[in-house]
Amino acid sequence: MLHLLEPSRSSATQQRAGTRSVINVAGRVAIGGRSIAIIAGPCSVEGRDMLLDSARAVRDAGAVMLRGGAYKPRTSPYSFRGLGEEALDILADAREATGLPVVTEILDPRQLERIESVADVLQVGARNMQNFALLSEVGKSRKPVLLKRGLSATMDELLLAAEYVLAAGNPNVILCERGIRTFETATRNTLDVAAVPVLKSRTHLPVIVDPSHAGGHWELVEPLALAAIAAGADGLIVEVHPNPSGALSDGEQSLTPARFARLVERCGAVATAIGRQVAVPKSGAAATASVVRAPNGAKSAVKSGAKSGVRLGAKAGVIGAAPASVVRDASRSVEEPWPA
Ligand code: PEP
Ligand code: MN
Repeated sequence: MLHLLEPSRSSATQQRAGTRSVINVAGRVAIGGRSIAIIAGPCSVEGRDMLLDSARAVRDAGAVMLRGGAYKPRTSPYSFRGLGEEALDILADAREATGLPVVTEILDPRQLERIESVADVLQVGARNMQNFALLSEVGKSRKPVLLKRGLSATMDELLLAAEYVLAAGNPNVILCERGIRTFETATRNTLDVAAVPVLKSRTHLPVIVDPSHAGGHWELVEPLALAAIAAGADGLIVEVHPNPSGALSDGEQSLTPARFARLVERCGAVATAIGRQVAVPKSGAAATASVVRAPNGAKSAVKSGAKSGVRLGAKAGVIGAAPASVVRDASRSVEEPWPA
């Protein structure tokens, strides 16, 4: 197994063709291929109607996966900390109603069994990036893990955190740049756009960006999303709320569904400009989440030079520069890793 302790030595073998991992989410979404996956939904699940409305709205606008926190890590214990169990049931209903796979955050290793029964992707949040017990626990799962970069974590630390998950047996990790803490106070965090190409040069794992927690204000979300795609991000995770001003968490950085639809469309234009496309949702109910092991077991988060990653047999639709909801090109396969 290659480790990051000698990053320059391992990075020397990283540029060979076919070394990127493409992660299959529930047989419906491929992350890390040529298509860019846009995940969207509210910061927190606040109730049934609001989540179902949000899920339908983001699906119709072009999201391929639904986000929504059931358990929220809040700075103050007196802030809204999520509906917990009830939210998990609501997420399951939204999944059923829309066919969108679900990503939700796990805070505690004891929650794994219950959250796994609903989630297609397990989110490990920025505040838990170095919760090694949690990383090892999600490493035992067969569900992909969305690992967010810690508030003050270096890229090496993020990759080593991913290594914990891989070392425990789960090769399906999606890295997420969500802004880091710097001296700058004009934005909630500072989006480290350079993390996208740097991480992609150092690991075979897909890299997505969260422009919502980076910018902290809805007006910044679209420009940061476009920058992320231009920089090579394999996907986005975006907060969308039907009524941002009434949100119980992160309303100021949440997009309305209409603004989100515009974001998807503009992302399609940037994707086209760099030879990619934005994935469009498949119709029909979500399949049971399935995770296929990488052919070589994807033993390390750092590219080994050996072929690694999960290949999908399914074709996916894409979005080009034209309106998100109408362009479908099933001829382009998501099997192909990008860049090779
Ligand atoms: C979230 O996605 O709602 C969240 C809490 O993100 P982060 O862990 O990046 O702060
Ligand atoms: Mn949030």
